[in-house]
Amino acid sequence: MLNKILIANRGEIACRVMRTARALGVKTVAVYSDADRHAMHVAMADESVYIGPSAVTESYLRGETIIEAALVTGAEAIHPGYGFLSENPEFVEKVEQAGLRFIGPSAAAIRAMGLKDAAKVLMHKAGVPVVPGYHGENQGSEFLQQQALKIGYPVLIKARAGGGGKGMRLVETPETFADALASAQREAQASFADANCLIEKYIASPRHIEIQVFGDDHGNVVHLFERDCSLQRRHQKVIEEAPAPGMTDAMRDAMGKAAIEAAKAIDYSGAGTVEFIVDGSNGLQPDQFWFMEMNTRLQVEHPVTEAITGCDLVEWQLRVASGEPLPYSQDDLSINGWSMEARIYAEDVAKGFLPATGTLHYLDFAEQARVDTGVREGDVISPFYDPMIAKLIVHGETRDAALRLMRQSLRHTHAAGTVTNINFLNDLLDQKDFVEGKFDTSLIDRNIDQLTGTLVPPDLIIALAAIEAAGINDRDSDPFVAFTLWQPLKHTVQLSDQDGIERVVALETDGSGGWRATIDERCHMLMVVDSDRVLFDNQSVEVSIQSHALGVSVFADRAWHFTVPDQLDGDGPDGAGGDTIAAPMPGLIKVINVEVGAKVALGDPLIIMEAMKMEHTLTAPRDGEVEELLVTVDDQVEDGGILLRLSVDD
Ligand code: ADP
Ligand code: ADP
Ligand code: MG
Repeated sequence: MLNKILIANRGEIACRVMRTARALGVKTVAVYSDADRHAMHVAMADESVYIGPSAVTESYLRGETIIEAALVTGAEAIHPGYGFLSENPEFVEKVEQAGLRFIGPSAAAIRAMGLKDAAKVLMHKAGVPVVPGYHGENQGSEFLQQQALKIGYPVLIKARAGGGGKGMRLVETPETFADALASAQREAQASFADANCLIEKYIASPRHIEIQVFGDDHGNVVHLFERDCSLQRRHQKVIEEAPAPGMTDAMRDAMGKAAIEAAKAIDYSGAGTVEFIVDGSNGLQPDQFWFMEMNTRLQVEHPVTEAITGCDLVEWQLRVASGEPLPYSQDDLSINGWSMEARIYAEDVAKGFLPATGTLHYLDFAEQARVDTGVREGDVISPFYDPMIAKLIVHGETRDAALRLMRQSLRHTHAAGTVTNINFLNDLLDQKDFVEGKFDTSLIDRNIDQLTGTLVPPDLIIALAAIEAAGINDRDSDPFVAFTLWQPLKHTVQLSDQDGIERVVALETDGSGGWRATIDERCHMLMVVDSDRVLFDNQSVEVSIQSHALGVSVFADRAWHFTVPDQLDGDGPDGAGGDTIAAPMPGLIKVINVEVGAKVALGDPLIIMEAMKMEHTLTAPRDGEVEELLVTVDDQVEDGGILLRLSVDD
């Protein structure tokens, strides 16, 4: 076994690799950028090496700096994780030239699968079914247009160097082909410095089913069954499961054999995934699957395979890289139960899944799930990297059991401080077609309006947020107990919900430990039973309430977030009477109402910023003159960052 490895990655996957390394007694070296100085993966490692500024091109993509870090610390091998340098054959060659081991396949194998067009030619030769289409050299627009007609619409244009769903366009009719091609080529050039595209038949009712393969340096290759990754947004996976719903023995056998053929064709060693597109319109048929691409690395969704096989794939990677043979043969492997993974991202689902940033002021994970994460409460989701917060992985005896566990896990995973997709995931799990296991890759798009519609917070939620916001809940003793003892009898609380709508709640003690909450003339009775349960109009409800730097969050069947106007506007150390305006939270500057030199009066609205989907108006802390503006519109600002300064001598 290896003695010490360097992990050339960050976030959850760096932490994931370290967990297994530690269990095997392998020492770990982390690398980090400026933004990651205090990151979890650095804290977890035995040693760490600074590799440069926050931008990936100046840190995590700098192969030579990373190799240097491995040499200096005496690491024998480099684990690339996924993304970054994981599928870069030049990097692999440099690692090997430096006398180190790359924990992954050979440069030649990566190169063979690196471009989708060449990979398809190779796979076709190896007898693996490939998606019908054109994957040749000719890139003339008219020529490709003719090919599209030949293939038959709808077609999919794909960047041959593509990844992460980029450079891909679905074209339904010949009239829109030329524009779509031009735009795919532009995106491909910008993202991958390679404008070449291929044209594929767009498979009807497509399901994404992939096979995990594993090879060693002794010529052994096995597959570890399939994963269904059909639930996608923008061609990127959201929820993955194993096995695939509706899978038959015949289909699994055919797909497994094809995947092993694919791996053997390139002398594959290490963990890899062969991705297939499947026509699911008539159930799963052994002649209705086609090779799409091979990912020559560990995949984000590998934990669902670990759950159903009981194998630790990172352990296998380390063993294979140490020269050991695969721990099991094909006949030793079997499927046990059902597993699902949900990817939790900081992203704004309603704004087209726009990546979000911010500080995770509150973060609490479910106990029911395996949680693979690279962040802790208080950590920042920065604009520099993938905004993934965590992966939740559950395992049950049946699909129903796994689904139930996933619902519970999502419900008990609480995050505040940045927008997340947790509510969206919750709603997705309730989609009838998903529950019944009858879905294809367009399920999310088809139901997008329903999945992103805004909901009005129920009175119960508003009332609880108001109690928390009013500070009449003594957090150090039993929640809420202190309320009736010494607090005034009546409170009026103002809150903004996540759509920026003002909510006013009148609270009144009822004299027996509960209280009466009035919202828009609707009156309710509330009684707190314990820290996660309340009686609301005599119904028992499970809830969790959290105050944090941005306001109050209430977690029930879904998460609800509120800001408290008094708390945010002009309060705090640089608040009323001060000389500066500071950002009360991380966010985006939307409007600046003044210029340097402007005379302002206490309370004038000067800057509007957007955070947590809401606009916040920042007002003048006193009368004065604007001396300095430190931001411009569209700037992303950190929590506490100074935005504006008033001159001190007026
Ligand atoms: P797929 O490549 O099929 O989308 P995964 O879902 O496992 O496979 O995604 C791998 C991860 O690798 C993505 O979430 C993304 O963070 C990262 N990634 C993919 N392509 C690139 C790339 N070109 N550069 C950097 N990171 C990438
Ligand atoms: P990437 O490298 O971005 O992962 P893929 O070739 O793996 O690109 O395709 C990404 C996703 O796009 C697939 O998971 C699938 O949902 C969809 N897709 C790809 N090819 C086809 C096709 N021929 N027909 C229908 N959907 C497809
Ligand atoms: Mg893919």
